[in-house]
Amino acid sequence: MVGGGPAGLATSQQLRQQRIPHRVLERGDAVGYTWANLYDSLTLHTGKHMSSLPGMPFPPSAPLFVPRRAFLDYLRCYAERFDLPVDTGPSRRPSWSWPRVSSPTQRHRISRGRSGSPDESRTVSHTGGPMDTPAAGCWW
Ligand SMILES: Cc1cc2nc3c(=O)[nH]c(=O)nc-3n(C[C@H](O)[C@H](O)[C@H](O)COP(=O)(O)OP(=O)(O)OC[C@H]3O[C@@H](n4cnc5c(N)ncnc54)[C@H](O)[C@@H]3O)c2cc1C
Repeated sequence: MVGGGPAGLATSQQLRQQRIPHRVLERGDAVGYTWANLYDSLTLHTGKHMSSLPGMPFPPSAPLFVPRRAFLDYLRCYAERFDLPVDTGPSRRPSWSWPRVSSPTQRHRISRGRSGSPDESRTVSHTGGPMDTPAAGCWW
């Protein structure tokens, strides 16, 4: 999995639930790198009931529209709580390249081998919101 933002973390949590081995590669020094670098006054425009990741709703005490810093804390807690296998740092940027896609549609696919078991060597999912250039997964 490429990217330790909300999409990468949520997918990783789901993979964990299904005991599917995987790694999350994050170029930043911690998960939520995109959210760590947005402007300070930013607040989510989606309510907290629409903004949480699987398995960890926001607590009742959280404001309806969660501020950026609190969301960043949430992402970091999420990775810790589910012990997600995230490798961080610039060296975690994949060295391969893949074809760019012209539409902003992102793909999140888990491929499975003929036996029905996960085929890790052939599975790459690249996450990223509007702050990144979406790229198609490669199945080579
Ligand atoms: C100003 C603003 C406000 C927003 N507000 C909301 C909101 O209120 N509610 C909402 O639902 N959505 C909001 N969004 C959309 C938001 O971007 C997505 O909901 C969410 O961040 C997308 O998650 P993501 O994991 O796909 O992408 P990102 O959060 O961008 O995470 C992608 C991660 O991948 C890493 N990465 C990228 N390329 C590589 C690489 N080559 N190698 C390794 N790591 C890499 C990045 O460092 C980053 O950590 C907002 C976007 C913006 C710009």
